[in-house]
Amino acid sequence: MASSLRFRGAASGLRYWSRRQRPAATSLAAGKDLAPSCPVPPPAARFSRLTSEEIFSREALRLGRCLKPNILADVKAWRLLPLPLAPLVLPSLPLLGIQMDDVQRPFRDLGRVCSRSMASKTPVGFIGLGNMGNPMAKNLMKHGYPLIIYDVFPDACKEFQDAGEQVVSSPADVAEKADRIITMLPTSINAIEAYSGANGILKKVKKGSLLIDSSTIDPAISKELAKEAEKMGAVFMDAPVSGGVGAARSGNLTFMVGGVEDEFAAAQELLGCMGSNVVYCGAVGTGQAAKICNNMLLAISMIGTAETMNLGIRLGLDPKLLAKILNMSSGRCWSSDSYNPVPGVMDGVPSANNYQGGFGTTLMAKDLGLAQDSATSTKSPILLGSQAHQIYRMMCAKGYSKKDFSSVFQFLREEETF
Ligand code: NAD
Repeated sequence: MASSLRFRGAASGLRYWSRRQRPAATSLAAGKDLAPSCPVPPPAARFSRLTSEEIFSREALRLGRCLKPNILADVKAWRLLPLPLAPLVLPSLPLLGIQMDDVQRPFRDLGRVCSRSMASKTPVGFIGLGNMGNPMAKNLMKHGYPLIIYDVFPDACKEFQDAGEQVVSSPADVAEKADRIITMLPTSINAIEAYSGANGILKKVKKGSLLIDSSTIDPAISKELAKEAEKMGAVFMDAPVSGGVGAARSGNLTFMVGGVEDEFAAAQELLGCMGSNVVYCGAVGTGQAAKICNNMLLAISMIGTAETMNLGIRLGLDPKLLAKILNMSSGRCWSSDSYNPVPGVMDGVPSANNYQGGFGTTLMAKDLGLAQDSATSTKSPILLGSQAHQIYRMMCAKGYSKKDFSSVFQFLREEETF
C-alpha cells in the first residue's frame, strides 16, 4: 500500500514520466499489484470529463490491476499500459499465455489517444462552412480552439479569415495542419470528395488523427471511409446532428456518434462545444442510422402537420387556434408545436420568413433517399417514408429546392386543385 500511495502521488499528470517516478513504474512492470483498492472507472466513462493529467493518473493506477493474470485475459486492458513501460512488461507476456499480436495494436492506439488528449487546444480542422458548419465552427472558436478552415466556396471562409483563423486551399492541407478534423458537408458525394478525392483529407492525414464527419450521408459510405482512414492509421467517426441552424447557433445540437467506443470521449470533447447532447450509438455508421430514422419520422410528421393544418383552415378554423388545440391534444408533435409550417402561426421559424433558411427541401429529399436505400437493403417496409420521399422529390422538381422543408404546406396549397 505504501508503494501504492507513492505511485498515486507520482502518477499525477505528466510528472508521471519524470525520473523521480521511475522506481514506482518499474515496480508495476515487475508485476506487483500496487493499487488493489483503487477505484476502476467504468470503460465508457474512462476518459470522459477527465483532464489529460487525470487520464494518465487513472490509467497508470489501473495498470496495477492489469498485471493480475485474470485481467490480462482482457486484451482491451493492454490499451492502458503506458508506452515506456512496454519494454519492461512485454518479455514476460509469453509466460502468461498472451500473444504479441494481441497487444501490439492497442499499444499503437494508446499512443494516439494520449497525444490527442494532451493537445486539447491544438488547432481543429473544419471543412464545410455552410448553414450548419458556420455556426458550429464559431462555437469551437468560442471555446478557444484555433481553426484550420476549408470550403470549396471561398466566400464561406471569409468571415473566419477576418477573425484570424487559418484558411487553406484543400482538405489535404487541413489534414497536414490539424490532427482533429470535423466535416459538415451536404451529401455522400461531397464527403467522398473531401476524404478520398485527389486533394482529400486521406492524402495527407497524420497517423492517429481523429476524423469526425457530421454530414448526413449513407451509413455504408461512413463505413467505407472508416476503413480507408484506418488504413492510413487514422480514426473516422460518424456524428450527424439533429437540431437545425438555430441549435447549431446556440450550441444545442444533438450528435449521434458511431465509431470505436474508446475514441468516443476524444470526439465528445469537441462535439460537446457544439451540442448539448452527444450520444454514442455503436459501431461506425450507427450515428447515420439514427439520424436517417429521425429524419424519416420528421418528414412524415411535417407532411401530416401541413395536411392537417390545411384541412382545418379549409374547414373554417383559425390556424393559430387549430395549432393551439393540436398542441394540447394527442396530435401534437415537433412540427406542430416548434416548427409550424403555416405562415403567421409562429414567429422565428422559416414559415414566418417565406420558408427561407432552416433545413432545405433538397436535403430532406436526400435524407429520405438514404432511408429508402437503407429500407431496401434491410428489407424494411417504409410505406409512409417512401411516400414522403416522393413528395419531397416532386417539390424539388417544382421549384421548392431552396426553401425550408416546411414549405410542404405551401406545396399542398398550390397542388390543391387535384
Ligand atoms: P450547406 O449546403 O449549407 O453547407 C455545406 C457546405 O459544404 C457549403 O458551404 C459547401 O460549399 C461546402 N462543401 C461542399 N462540398 C465540399 C467539399 N468537397 N469540400 C469542402 N466544402 C464543401 O449544408 P448544411 O445545411 O450546412 O448541411 C450540412 C449537412 O448537415 C448536410 O448533410 C445536412 O443534411 C445536415 N444537416 C443540416 C441541417 C440543417 O438544418 N441545415 C440540420 C441537420 C443536419
